[in-house]
Amino acid sequence: MGLHGKFALVTGSTSGIGLGIARALAADGAAIMLNGFAAPADIEREKSAIEAEFGVRVGYSGADLSSGAGVRQMVAETEAAFGQIDVLVNNAGIQFVEDIAEFPEEKWDAIIAINLSSAFHGIKAVTPGMKARGWGRIINTASAHGLVGSPQKVAYVAAKHGILGITKVAGIELANTGITVNAICPGWVLTPLVEKQLHDRAGRNGTSFEQEKIALVSEKQPMTQFSTPEQIGALAVFLCSDAARTITGAPISIDGGWTAQ
Ligand code: NAD
Repeated sequence: MGLHGKFALVTGSTSGIGLGIARALAADGAAIMLNGFAAPADIEREKSAIEAEFGVRVGYSGADLSSGAGVRQMVAETEAAFGQIDVLVNNAGIQFVEDIAEFPEEKWDAIIAINLSSAFHGIKAVTPGMKARGWGRIINTASAHGLVGSPQKVAYVAAKHGILGITKVAGIELANTGITVNAICPGWVLTPLVEKQLHDRAGRNGTSFEQEKIALVSEKQPMTQFSTPEQIGALAVFLCSDAARTITGAPISIDGGWTAQ
C-alpha cells in the first residue's frame, strides 16, 4: 500500500489503459479521481467496484479535455473533492487513421488538443501544489508512436512525440522538487481504441476481427502478444514508488520489442 494517503487523478480512465492504471493505483492505496466519457451507469459501476475492491475513495469528473478550460475544471473538481493531487496520469486519448492528404483538419485539432495539449494544461495546473508539498508523480501515457512513426497516423504520432517532449522538459524543470515526470510508451494494448481499428481493418480487408488481431500485432511487434491494461497499471505503480524516485524525463517502453527494431 505504497500510495496510501495519496490522491491520484487519472484522465481517460473510464476505459482501457486509464482504467487499468486507476485500478492499479487504487490497489496500491491511492484515492482515485476518474475522468472520461461513458454511460452514467457504467461509470457508477466502475466507481463502486474500485471502492469496494480496494477500500479507497473514488470520485469522477466528466470534464471534456479538448480545451484548457476543461482540464482546469477537472483539476479544480479534484482539488475540491480531495484537497490535493499527488499523482497525475495524463492518459486520455483518441485516434484517427487516414493519409495526410485526406486527414480532416478538425481531427488534427481534436487529437492535438486531447492527446497533447491536455497534458500541458494538466501539468501546469497541478505542479504548484505538488511543489508546495515536495512530492508528486506525473505519468504521461505516450506510445510506441512517441518514438517511431506509422503511416496514416499523423496527428497521433505528432501528439505522442510531443508528449515525450513535454515529459523531458517537465522532468528537467522539476528535477529537484520531489516530483518526477515520466512517459509510458505501450505497444499494442487490446482496448476499445484498438478494437475500432481492428473492426475497420476487417471491414476493409474482408477478414475477421481475430485474423486482424494477429496481423496487427505481428506487423509491428517481434513479440506477438498484446500488453494488458493491468501490466501498464503495474508499471505506473512502479513509477510512483520510492524505488523509482530518480527516474525522470524518461520514455519507458512496454511494447513487445516494437521500438527495439
Ligand atoms: P480507450 O478508447 O479505451 O480510452 C480512452 C479514454 O479517454 C476513455 O476513457 C475516453 O472516455 C477518454 N477520452 C477521450 N476523449 C476525451 C476527452 N475529450 N475528454 C476526456 N476524456 C476523453 O483507449 P486506450 O487504448 O485505453 O487509450 C488510452 C491512452 O493510451 C491513449 O492516450 C492512447 O493513445 C494510449 N495508447 C494506447 C495504446 C493501445 O494499443 N491501446 C497503445 C499506446 C498508447
